[in-house]
This record gives sequence, C-alpha cells and structure tokens, in this order.
Amino acid sequence: MAATMLRRHPCNAVPSRLPDDAVRLEVPLQAPAHRRTGAGLDGLTVSDVDHHERLTAMREGRLGSVHSWELVTAVDGPGTRLTTFLSGCPLQCLYCHNPDTLAMKDGQPVTSDELLARIARYTAVFHATGGGITLSGGEVLMQPAFAARILRGAKELGIHTAIDTSGYLGAAASDAMLDDVDLVLLDVKSGDPDTYRTVTGRELEPTLTFGRRLAARAEGPEVWIRYVLVPGLTDDVDNVEAVAVYAASLNEVRPGTVTRVEVLPFHQMGRDKWDALGRDYQLADTEPPSVDLVDRVRAQFRAHDLLTF
Ligand code: SF4
Repeated sequence: MAATMLRRHPCNAVPSRLPDDAVRLEVPLQAPAHRRTGAGLDGLTVSDVDHHERLTAMREGRLGSVHSWELVTAVDGPGTRLTTFLSGCPLQCLYCHNPDTLAMKDGQPVTSDELLARIARYTAVFHATGGGITLSGGEVLMQPAFAARILRGAKELGIHTAIDTSGYLGAAASDAMLDDVDLVLLDVKSGDPDTYRTVTGRELEPTLTFGRRLAARAEGPEVWIRYVLVPGLTDDVDNVEAVAVYAASLNEVRPGTVTRVEVLPFHQMGRDKWDALGRDYQLADTEPPSVDLVDRVRAQFRAHDLLTF
C-alpha cells in the first residue's frame, strides 16, 4: 500500500502527505486501507471469564476491550509504533473513520499482561527507531485503568508512550497516569463550541481544559494537536483561528508543550463502515479539502509559530 494511503486514527485522519519514510511494518496490513477488522488480535482472546470477574478485572485495569492493533512507522507518534485501538468512545463525530470502535462491548477482551507481553516483544524495534506505543481508539480514556496499567508497564520497559485522545474524558486521566505518558495526540475537533457540538454531539470545554492541564504540568507530556479539516464543517477561518490561538496559548503556559500541529484532510474512506452499520452518514456529499484550503489552514497555524504539517 502506498505510504500516502496509510490510515490515521481516530479522526478520519489520512494526511494528504506523509513523510517519505512512512511505511507499515509487518502484518497486519489492511486492505482496503480503511478496514481494520481482524487486525492483530489472534491468540489474545480471553475465555471462561465470568461476567462479574470480567467487570472487576476491567475496573481494575487487568482486562481491556480492544478493537485491534497495528505496527506502523511515521504515524501516531515518532518512530515505529505499536498502536492499540481500544473500543468505546463517548463522541459521535460526523466524520468518524471507525464507527465500529465506538461501542466498548464490541471489542475483544485482552488482559493487560497479554498486551504488555506483546509490547515487550518490540522493545528493540522501539529503541532502534525512537518509537514506542500509542493507545488510541475509540477513546483511550474510556478505559483509564487499563490504559494506566499498559502505560506503566511500558515505562517499566523503558518504552516511549503516547495516547491519542479527544480529551473529552481528560478528567479520567489521573496525574499518575499522565506521569507515564510522553506524548499526547490531542484531537481538537473545533475551536468554536457550537461547531464542536455539531461535529461530535458533545461539548468542547473538557478538551480545552485537558490541554491546559497538560500544559500546566512542569514535566510534560509533549502535545501534538490534530485537526481534521472538513470543508463546510471545520474550515471556517475563525474556527481554525480559535484552535490555533488555543494551541499557541498552551505554549505560553509551558514553552514547548505543543511541538506539532497536524492538519488532517477529511476523506471518505470510512464511509462504507457507516453503511455497513446502517448508520446515517451525513457527510456523503462532502469532498476532501482542496490543496489551497489545506495550505490556508496550515498557514493559519504557522502564523502562531506552531510547527505544522
Ligand atoms: S473521537 Fe470517537 S467518534 Fe470521534 S472520530 Fe474519534 S473514535 Fe470516532
């Protein structure tokens, strides 16, 4: 698959252009690019766990609901990364690329020990490439106890850690968990609260609050802001400007907090999943943004001294 077709997640996020060294390592390769079904779950299901024990294990973070994972390079953080997609999300984004990840009950049960054992196998690859793990979704903070265990275990292995989140459930992330996070990929879906509500069905403020909390932490983590650019939905000049001003404001709180902004052009590659789930896909007639529009939006971020791709 061409590097430019690599999928990004969770936000309909295939960049128009990825770095030249963007490759996917090993299987699972997904064909077509927008399908993740069955990727990387072989041999990791849990059986004979009764309902009560399962709930207890999930509450304690010993058990998680996982959609899939994949090993990628130059996406979801630096270096080669094992990205794990957790099931469950409180948002309902109109452009969601993976609506099959939204219900936690649809994921497969995976123990933290099993996932950490898999992560450990790639330790040498992570160290050689400057990579690590990324917990994505769905929404990683739907399963904070499980995420915390994975992040702690990864740090004990000396592995770089990232979470990919909308920030809507940022309050669920404990300070102890954040101590184990090196990088937050913060998906800010709109700078205007009304547009945010239209896009996601939820409120913007929790995301902004979470970002400010990250910036207020003396020891990090580093933050990459991600912005999905949808013509006619999130491309308004003032809306983009509000996100850029917000991102720049985080660097005023702690210089170097936001080290990158990624403008992610909308695409239609998740459409058939909506159809398969029988859900109403409202963006069926929306075109990807033009090159000129993407350039304009990236220039808006760069005008605030933000390194922008
Ligand atoms: S936040 Fe949730 S609903 Fe929105 S794009 Fe990501 S996974 Fe889909």
